[in-house]
Amino acid sequence: MRTMIVAVSLGVVVVGLSSCSRVELPGYRPVAAGPVSPNEPLPPTQFEWPQDKAVGVSLSFDDARASQLDVGVPLLDSFGVKATFYVSIVPMRERLSDWKAVLATGHEIGNHSLRHACTTNFSFSKGKALEDYTLEQMAAELDQANSEIEKSLGVCPVTFAYPCGQKFVGRGVNAKSYVPVVASRFLAGRGWREEAPTAPAVCDLAQLMTMELDGLTWEQLKVLVEQARKTGGWLVLCGHDVGEGGRQTVRIDTLRAFCEYARDPKNGVWVDTVAHIGRYVAEHRIVPGRRQAKSGGTR
Ligand SMILES: [Zn+2]
Repeated sequence: MRTMIVAVSLGVVVVGLSSCSRVELPGYRPVAAGPVSPNEPLPPTQFEWPQDKAVGVSLSFDDARASQLDVGVPLLDSFGVKATFYVSIVPMRERLSDWKAVLATGHEIGNHSLRHACTTNFSFSKGKALEDYTLEQMAAELDQANSEIEKSLGVCPVTFAYPCGQKFVGRGVNAKSYVPVVASRFLAGRGWREEAPTAPAVCDLAQLMTMELDGLTWEQLKVLVEQARKTGGWLVLCGHDVGEGGRQTVRIDTLRAFCEYARDPKNGVWVDTVAHIGRYVAEHRIVPGRRQAKSGGTR
């Protein structure tokens, strides 16, 4: 048994190095290449947004749903707003040329795992429950999802969205966090249905606090943006379908109102992909005992 686990682990390392190996992340090196990771051993203490910005906002959409392509992307593109799409592999393959076009217009494609494993308590988890996973299996599947995306779209994801926002494998005394698996592969990991914005000065980039965008009216979303502004936070939002309304759906009127608001320079909102803002955070916060990164623009 022990031999088998070691063999699987080595396999994971090989897969991890062979796929997406050319991607360079700021302040980040894969575990196999050195000790520096985006999540420094000492907690960072200070951070400032670029000069004309008071709050960061990232819009993200999960599962490669058709309405994202048919409704969401055209709306975002009409305002020049960039978002992150955490794609599921099967629906991504069904509309490859459309997803390539999404990439070409400057949006980000992120990793959302290979099989969308969540807790066994969901009926859709049959045969792929996190309680039955090992860290090695999860690592192999994240690498395989990266490889599938790279083969299909020619880009290697640099950020990850935890399916169902759940970050564990196993159960009871054998349960383990798979945050380290994500932290060693990605610049950032995004959650789901949390209660506050991310605090860029001190956050663990592998566990970005994430709030639900589905179903919000513009009035409700504006409250979240203003709450994040008060603390200089990074509001990371997650939605699913885009339409007039309904289950797991980002409202078109809300998205349009947000884009109009975010595009007005006097509101001081930096809206950009998880990768772009995550990279800026990684490069610009102060870590004790480590030289501060040079300040720069918003990209
Ligand atoms: Zn999902």
